[in-house]
Amino acid sequence: MNSFEQDLCSRLETIREQSLLRTLRPVNGPQGARIEIAGRDLLNFSSNDYLGLSNHPLVKEAAARAVERHGAGSGASRLICGSLAPHQELEACLADFKGTAAALSFSSGYAAALGTIGALMDKGDVIILDRLSHACLVDGARLSGATMRVFKHNDLENLEKVLKQEADRGAIQKNSKRPRLLVVTESVFSMDGDRAPLAELADLKDRYGAWLMVDEAHATGMHGPHFRGVADELGVSHRIEIQMGTMGKALGSAGGFICGPQALIDVLVNRARSFIFSTAPVPAAAAAARAAVELIRSGQCQENLTRLWQHVTSLRENLSTMAGPALCPILPLHIGEESKAASAGKALLERGIFIPAIRYPSVARGKARLRLTVSAAHSSADIRLLLDNLKSLELAQHI
Ligand SMILES: *Cc1c(COP(=O)(O)O)cnc(C)c1O
Repeated sequence: MNSFEQDLCSRLETIREQSLLRTLRPVNGPQGARIEIAGRDLLNFSSNDYLGLSNHPLVKEAAARAVERHGAGSGASRLICGSLAPHQELEACLADFKGTAAALSFSSGYAAALGTIGALMDKGDVIILDRLSHACLVDGARLSGATMRVFKHNDLENLEKVLKQEADRGAIQKNSKRPRLLVVTESVFSMDGDRAPLAELADLKDRYGAWLMVDEAHATGMHGPHFRGVADELGVSHRIEIQMGTMGKALGSAGGFICGPQALIDVLVNRARSFIFSTAPVPAAAAAARAAVELIRSGQCQENLTRLWQHVTSLRENLSTMAGPALCPILPLHIGEESKAASAGKALLERGIFIPAIRYPSVARGKARLRLTVSAAHSSADIRLLLDNLKSLELAQHI
């Protein structure tokens, strides 16, 4: 073994010793209530395809039609010759859906966060993130070169303290421009399923002259009178400067997006490096995402949504406590120790149920959990089977 491989192997050994080693699972066939992993048919409680749209006939048909008309690849970046009709149609549709002047799509939510934060914030500016913000938001903040501050999870008092410090610091800076302040959070947190207090966050950022960026990755398509997300449900969308989402979760496709005023989109087109220096998303992905948005907007997913919330409600009724009254398809089973979470996941797997153990670095060390997610693709019988197994493995008390 040469020294390069030796170095790699010793790193892998360290990861393995901490019960943190990850490997890929070969999945055969489409997403659904059941999936085939390594040749085994399993009941799947791990997907973010909350509405079951990734396998919806109209979404698949839109993707297939886009391949026929526009080809498999997009050929170049958006700013060269890759800005195809499906991208423009998707962006018009996203802006309409979210009720904003404009929208921009990216190849992923990760790329959207990285490009957007970097485009808007520079050295000397300040980004203040909720401690549990997704890795893409953290990475975007790091890459931007701006000063990074963190506030305790959903803690308004702590955020106000940080905002006040930074606003005061900005006020005494002479000869130079006041630093921009950006508060960043998720609306529904990806690993805990709890919600940010968006109305109160909007009040605070207004008071200190900051901007607010909200990642609705786990809420888009599922909440509010227009299904836009939690901001829509709370009626605060217009108070959020930068609205972000992904098309890889409830929209059943792939890609990320930013919605907001036209000037925001124009700045991103000119400055967001993950947008500029990357081949445009394939036409099929854009067309599938648009079909999913259209289905949701037209109310055709109401039945899926009703079924999803029924499943969530019945799980909560049968499993002791759950944080917060709001409905959410993410129901973490908190375990703590990494090795215990891994063996709980294994025990479920032996019974034909797939709920992966989520460990560091996805969550903090010692906060390992089984991240249970429910989908409209599940039947009531699936939910009963899950409950029976959680109870017999004595995992029910964790939820
Ligand atoms: C999944 C996720 C993303 C990334 O979106 P992708 O389209 O999967 O890259 C961003 N933010 C949050 C909160 C997420 O859960």
